[in-house]
Amino acid sequence: MTTQSQAFTLTEQETHIRLRAAAFVGVGVPALIYFGIMAAIESEWVLCALAFITSATIVVCFLFLWQRRRGYAAVRPAIACYTALLLYLVAFSGPEHVRTLWLLTLPLVSTLLLPPREGGIWAAGSMLMAAYLMLQGGRFDGSSSYSAAYILRFTIVYGLLSAVLIWSEILLQRYQARLQGQNAMLAEERDRLEKEVIERAALEEELRYLATTAPLTGLLNRRAFMAMLAGELTRSQRLRSRFTVLMLDIDHFKQINDSHGHPAGDAVLVHVAALLTEQLRGIDKLARIGGEEFAIMLVDTPADSAAGVVGRLLDAIRHKPAEHPASHQPIAFTASIGCTESLPDDDELSALARADRALYIAKQSGRDRHAWV
Ligand code: GH3
Ligand code: MG
Ligand code: MG
Repeated sequence: MTTQSQAFTLTEQETHIRLRAAAFVGVGVPALIYFGIMAAIESEWVLCALAFITSATIVVCFLFLWQRRRGYAAVRPAIACYTALLLYLVAFSGPEHVRTLWLLTLPLVSTLLLPPREGGIWAAGSMLMAAYLMLQGGRFDGSSSYSAAYILRFTIVYGLLSAVLIWSEILLQRYQARLQGQNAMLAEERDRLEKEVIERAALEEELRYLATTAPLTGLLNRRAFMAMLAGELTRSQRLRSRFTVLMLDIDHFKQINDSHGHPAGDAVLVHVAALLTEQLRGIDKLARIGGEEFAIMLVDTPADSAAGVVGRLLDAIRHKPAEHPASHQPIAFTASIGCTESLPDDDELSALARADRALYIAKQSGRDRHAWV
């Protein structure tokens, strides 16, 4: 039973009704059973039967409400049975009409378990029937009749009680409706903010990518390379180690553009980026810092170890031509590399300027080679 009910998502109002119905069962059913037993002891068989029938109906209705989630509809038979029992007590109230007082529990039950307006109508209708029975007083069981003052006072108390209960129920429902409205607004605002945070994070990521990445090749750009170079210089100066900075420039790149077209020039740039990435270690840093200029940081690699790497890079470029994007013909080309080793008092600008001077020397000496400064 519980598992099935947990599969539903209950509204706040439905949860409310369930809790109230549970209280009605918890208090009402034991009281009714006690009442029925007392009636049986005194041989009041009609009252005994009514008490047990009402108890059974209440339990069945409650199970129905709990399992099927029928809302107000499920509690109506239980309230009808309970009303019938109370009206019986009004009709057969004994000489001092003590049993009639149980009717005062009806506004409580009807307004708490039914919607306020329906509960009010139910309470008023029941009071009308009760008043009719009272006016007929004594006819049913031969006991004393109700006095007009009793009927009037009872009706006033009953009416006041009903009015207070209905009014408090209406206020409670208004308050709940307002609260639900506010909750819905808050949920909407929270969803909007969450969406905005996600969008901003994506935008930030895109901006970071654009700020640090060179177009076409997807390599680091000049700014990102300079920041890394500065970091690596600080690290190497603290550790008193050396590393090598290279500046690579494609030879006669303008001619490639002129004779094969700009898209072919682009293909060569992409090809060089892939080739260099393939030849370098994961820890080395590679950037495209200009049109056809690449900068490389050979981390933890002093000049003597770097010489072999530089030769390998030039060889790869020499022997692995790019492919024309349209004709698929090979495009052979070469590159020149300027090399320098980091110095203890270097900053990123001085290191890169030396690499640039070395590149100039390599170009001046005939290209397709490297030079050290
Ligand atoms: P050098 O051997 O002295 O380096 O001569 P170069 O022709 O390679 O150098 P130059 O600086 O004269 O020409 C570089 C050319 O690179 C000029 C420019 O149009 C071209 N370029 C720059 N960026 C791009 C790009 O993204 N795509 C293409 N296809 N060409 C580019
Ligand atoms: Mg060039
Ligand atoms: Mg250039």
